[in-house]
Parts: sequence; C-alpha cells; structure tokens
Amino acid sequence: MTSLFEYAPAPESRSIVSIAPSYGLFIDGEFVDGTGESFKTVNPATEEVLSEVSAASEADVDRAVRAARKAFEKTWGPMRPADRGKYLFRIARLLQERAREFAVLESLDNGKPIRESRDVDVPLAAAHFFYYAGWADKLDHVGLGTRPRPLGVAGQVIPWNFPLLMLAWKVAPALAAGNTVVLKPAETTPLSALLFAEVCRQADLPAGVVNIVTGAGDTGRAVVEHGDVDKVAFTGSTEVGRSIARAVAGTAKKLTLELGGKAANIVFDDAPIDQAVEGIVQGIFFNQGHVCCAGSRLLVQESIHDEVIASLQRRIGTLRVGDPLDKNTDIGAINSAEQLARIRELSDIGEAEGANRWQPACELPDRGFWFPPTVFTDVSPAHRIARDEVFGPVLSVLTFRTPDEAVAKANNTTYGLSAGIWSEKGSRILQIANQLRAGVVWANTFNKFDPTSPFGGYKQSGYGREGGRHGLAAYLKGADQ
Ligand code: NAD
Repeated sequence: MTSLFEYAPAPESRSIVSIAPSYGLFIDGEFVDGTGESFKTVNPATEEVLSEVSAASEADVDRAVRAARKAFEKTWGPMRPADRGKYLFRIARLLQERAREFAVLESLDNGKPIRESRDVDVPLAAAHFFYYAGWADKLDHVGLGTRPRPLGVAGQVIPWNFPLLMLAWKVAPALAAGNTVVLKPAETTPLSALLFAEVCRQADLPAGVVNIVTGAGDTGRAVVEHGDVDKVAFTGSTEVGRSIARAVAGTAKKLTLELGGKAANIVFDDAPIDQAVEGIVQGIFFNQGHVCCAGSRLLVQESIHDEVIASLQRRIGTLRVGDPLDKNTDIGAINSAEQLARIRELSDIGEAEGANRWQPACELPDRGFWFPPTVFTDVSPAHRIARDEVFGPVLSVLTFRTPDEAVAKANNTTYGLSAGIWSEKGSRILQIANQLRAGVVWANTFNKFDPTSPFGGYKQSGYGREGGRHGLAAYLKGADQ
C-alpha cells in the first residue's frame, strides 16, 4: 500500500549501551571466567557480532549451585522477609532507572522492535519485581499453607523470545519466596541477563543469591540435572520440556514447565471487526510471532471471513518491517538463522499441503534474518501450519459456522496455553471461555500480560503457573498450589 507521507527514520541511539567484547559468568556475586568454550552472540538484524560469552561447563554450573546453596543457608534464607522485599524493590527501581539501556540492549541482541522492548518487556520486568517485592513479607498470611518455606536452590532455564521478561518471571517469585537461583539465559540472547547481573551488584544483593550461567543446551542440562538443585523452572520448547520432565522424574525436585502453544483466536460474526483486526495483528505479529501464547490460529466465523481477511490484509500492508532500533518499526528481525529456517520450512509445507499464502509487498533488509508477515487462508485442521508451532509471523486462518464447531476446532490441538474470543456478547464470551482448554483466555483483546495474573498451560503447553499468587506457590514448601 502506498502512503501519502513516508516515515522519516527515527532510530533510537545505541550509545546508552556499552557492550564488552567478552563476558564471563556471574557466580557468587562476581564475574568469573568460565572453563567451557566461549560463543558469539550476534545482532540478528545485521549479523554483527555483539560479544563473546562463556559457555558454562558442568564444573562452572556446580560452582554456581554451591554459591547459591551457601547464600541460601547463610544470608538469603535466614534474612527477614521484609529485608528480602527491600532488595527486590531496589532491583525493580534500578530496572526502571536503567530502562532505556535494557531496552536498547534487548533489541540489539534479540531483534525485537525498540517500541516493544521499551514499552512492554522492560516495564513488565520491573513490574514483576515490584509485585513480588510486595509479597516477600506476607507469605504467612495469605493462605499459602500454614508455614510456607522456601525450597532452596532454584535452577532456571529460559528462552530467547523475551529474555529479560522471562528472567523476571523466574527470578522475582523465587527470591520473594526466599530461594536462591542459578539461571541460564538462552544462547542467542545472553546479554540482558548479564546486565541484570550488574544490577544485582548495584543493588548490593548478597553474593550467590542470583547466579547467571550462560551457554547452550548442555549448560541447561547441567543446571537441571544438578543433584543439589531443589526446584527446576523451565520455559522453552515442548520437546526439551519433555526431556527435562524425564530427567527430573524420580528425584525430589519440584518442576514447572512453560512450553509451546498454538492458540486459537476466535472471531464471531458479532465482533467489532476493526478492533478484532487489531487484536489479530497484535496476537500474531507482536514480537515477530516469537510468542508462546501467540494467536497463531485465527478461527473466523464463515459469514464474515472475506470481510475480516480483506480488512486484515489492508492493516498488515501498513506494518513496518525493519530496523529494530527504529521507533516506527512494528516487526523486527527473526531471532536467529535457525528460527528463520524453521519458519521458512513450515511455510513451504503450508503451501505444499494446499493452503494459500499471502504476504504484503515489503522490502526486507539485505543482511540479517527477516520474514514478512504472512497469512495462510484455506487452511484445514490437518495441515502442519494448523498444528505445529511456527513461532514466527505466520497466521493460519480456519473458519467455523457454529459456536460448538469453534470450540471443537479451538481445542483440537496438543497444546493449551492461551486463546482469544471476539464477540459483542458477554454471555457468549463466558460460555465459550468455559469450554476452552487453555490456561489464559483473552476476551476482546490479546497478548495482555500482568504480574498479578497467573500464566501457564494445559496439555503439552506444560504445567504449573507463573505470575500472581500461584507463581509463588511453585517456590514454596507447605504451600497449597
Ligand atoms: P528451547 O527449548 O530450544 O530452549 C529453551 C532453553 O532451554 C534455552 O535456554 C536452551 O539453551 C535450553 N535447553 C536446550 N536444551 C536443553 C536441555 N536438554 N536441558 C536443559 N536446557 C536446555 O526453546 P527455544 O527455541 O529457545 O524457545 C522457543 C520455545 O519456547 C517455543 O516453543 C515457545 O513456545 C516456548 N516458550 C514458552 C513460553 C511459556 O511461557 N509457555 C514462553 C516463551 C517461550
């Protein structure tokens, strides 16, 4: 679509961030050299190498777990809960103070638009610390069992799609409940976790309470399988989640798994179409579709299919794909070459199986990893693009005639993380929501997150809840879940 006015470039300056040429691990309050090989982290929008980061070996992970254990026994565990809360408040305020730095760093390392890292990832990460700071001294009084106690050392492994935010989801409730942590960020996005380590030092957090070990799957496995870890919290793919469940089975470790999804976003014929179209766009193109709860299956009532698709295509034609640091960018870079290959493969399969691919005319940068916003129509529930998580900006459109058919199709998935309902009638929304097997159901909105609200899945989307009071229960003994 040609527009009357062109946007002038509006790049956010990256000068606020200083990235060291190399980083060690953060163990026992210090940055230390790892004993494993180091690896490079790149800017997915340019393929520029940003830094070299240590891959923690088993011995390094062991050192981190020992530091966490010592802190649990000597400082953090015995500390007055109100004092723990003060540290969490301090971390939250430092995240706010350094918000621009975190936002720019996150966009550089992840490829997400600065508009999202600035307005969503970083403020929500700070909000999680504020929220759980308030819980630290109230654990005895809010029905989490008669005498809730921390579990000990939590081993936490997170993915690359919301690096700082996933860290906050993991670290804030664990610390508020009195645990210490060893956290492994994803191998393609380690930098914001390392900046967070600096924030821990700035907050004077006692040594060993938070330890950050960078690395890939082997490092993650060493964290999960370490004999002195009491609790494992994992966010990532269903496949790896399954292997972790097997590794933890038969041990005394507590486990929560936040895995993949294939959410249905259901649009009824009485929905406000313009709002629904915004919600569909937000549901699948937010964060390049690298969102576990993305509304990747649009279920639209047959009678309004053509109208919704025409309106959706017009809206997608106005989305700006490109430089993540430009404040006008809507869709940034795909996080890695591997993820881009997967998105391409599944999209090609979609076409080969008979679905109809539509993409707007859009120029993609020459370097870096890019994929245009894509809509598949004529999708049948048996198609791979209707069943598999693409984890990219790819929407599959299916139709339904009756509410029962909508529910049956929405639930026809191995996942169960989230869903959306668009309708003018509150009674219909409640009736449908009650029948959906999904951990989160949004009504007339999509992809809204709040620290007070529990988040988690059914079926192969995992088990346990993060966020809210439920999120604390997963880090306490004697707590009713
Ligand atoms: P992934 O499972 O490949 O990796 C996730 C993390 O696990 C990374 O840090 C990785 O290094 C580590 N890891 C890999 N193998 C491991 C092993 N054997 N033992 C321990 N750790 C290991 O997933 P990904 O590609 O980084 O992330 C995308 C997936 O995450 C998607 O499926 C998405 O739906 C899911 N996700 C879920 C949520 C949620 O809350 N449910 C949130 C974000 C992402």
